[in-house]
Amino acid sequence: MGSPDVVVIGAGAAGIIAAWRSASLGARTLLVEKTPRIGTKIRISGGGKCNITHDGPIEEVLRAFRPNEARFIRPACYRFTNRQIVEMLTSRGLRVYTRPDGCIFPVDQTAKDVVAILEAYLREAGVELCLDCPVRGIEAMDGAISGVRTVDRIGCRRVVLAVGGSSYSASGTTGDGFVWARALGHTVVKVRAALAPIMLPIPGLEQLVGVALRDVRLKARSRGKEIARWDGDLLFTHRGVSGPTVLGLSRAVAEAVEAGPVLLEVDCLPDHSFESVGAEVRSWCETNPRKQISGVLEGRLPRSAASSVLAAAGVEGTTAAAQTPQKQRNRLVETLKGWRLGEVGEVWLEKGEVVAGGVSLDEVDSQTMRSRKCNGLYLCGEVLDIAGPVGGYNLHAAFATGYVAGETAARDALG
Ligand SMILES: Cc1cc2nc3c(=O)[nH]c(=O)nc-3n(C[C@H](O)[C@H](O)[C@H](O)COP(=O)(O)OP(=O)(O)OC[C@H]3O[C@@H](n4cnc5c(N)ncnc54)[C@H](O)[C@@H]3O)c2cc1C
Repeated sequence: MGSPDVVVIGAGAAGIIAAWRSASLGARTLLVEKTPRIGTKIRISGGGKCNITHDGPIEEVLRAFRPNEARFIRPACYRFTNRQIVEMLTSRGLRVYTRPDGCIFPVDQTAKDVVAILEAYLREAGVELCLDCPVRGIEAMDGAISGVRTVDRIGCRRVVLAVGGSSYSASGTTGDGFVWARALGHTVVKVRAALAPIMLPIPGLEQLVGVALRDVRLKARSRGKEIARWDGDLLFTHRGVSGPTVLGLSRAVAEAVEAGPVLLEVDCLPDHSFESVGAEVRSWCETNPRKQISGVLEGRLPRSAASSVLAAAGVEGTTAAAQTPQKQRNRLVETLKGWRLGEVGEVWLEKGEVVAGGVSLDEVDSQTMRSRKCNGLYLCGEVLDIAGPVGGYNLHAAFATGYVAGETAARDALG
């Protein structure tokens, strides 16, 4: 290749699709990637299975995002839909299924097979791939792109910035894009953890590590006010909590914790009212007066979680049900409906599936992904201030914005 028409920096979800689209339109396209392989983060996505995208009408998919983010990615999601990415993969032999919650996964293949198919698309489109090649900077002159620095200098007038965020830094994403975007005149919205585990000191945590609570409701409170809630499973880890409920809340918690203490609380029985739990405990005690009070939690909570709930309620588990004072039974009901785990220490950005924050959406044209600050610069994927929930939304946002960025860069280059 002589000098490229378009240089795409970062071979993640956004960069791969951008490079493929750009080359398919006839632009000489160079895809430069820091790590030794493409799709490094796709390979670890969905626990190695890859939740490719989310099923359903686009408007429904968009509702999962914050309103300003949904507004921004709407044109791109219509240009390159969830159906299109699925067709792109299934037409090359990937078999997929849609879970009842709308998440789309490969059936018997894995994230590696998804990447292999994307790699074949790049090859066929004639994308030149440069792996193990960290970009060190982007050059601009008079408000327009003039080149990219690796070990060498690559002269070019169109650069697609697709270097992702800054979590899971071992996968190549070390926040380089934020620094360059700022230098090129962009505002970078404060980068915070999202879809991340939460560290907090929980009394007796050692006994709880590895324990999962199913179908609970996790709530976060700040200054006594509930700021977020999420239903699903919760997992105790060496440092605190993780699992779908925690990832779901983490962005709101990361924001709130800057303003003051945030407390986490679990409703262990969200489908039962306070009154009905009270009635169940009463009736169990009447039927089983000689049994230890801890038995009331059997079948409701894993054993070690039950001990922690009893301890948090100040109830001695070995006391016979009939001997357990009413006050203690009431406290047990209160704890089942609102087990205070403690005060959040930190939301663990490095272990987040995405980061919130990034290049300000106001400074990028959502129809084209062109930078409004620097001519010849296009931005896509997680480097932008977008962070959807778990469910295939983030990969889709990256694929869709990448498609538009690659297309515009190629069209601008080819005149
Ligand atoms: C553990 C985990 C599981 C996840 N599971 C899912 C899931 O199942 N479904 C879902 O929708 N989302 C999932 N996500 C989120 C999803 O992977 C990201 O939102 C998505 O990969 C973002 O795409 P991107 O192309 O913007 O960035 P990335 O995929 O992160 O790609 C950026 C690329 O740029 C490269 N790069 C960085 N700096 C440079 C440089 N200086 N020079 C050259 N190259 C550079 C990086 O090496 C990287 O390959 C998961 C994330 C993680 C961490």
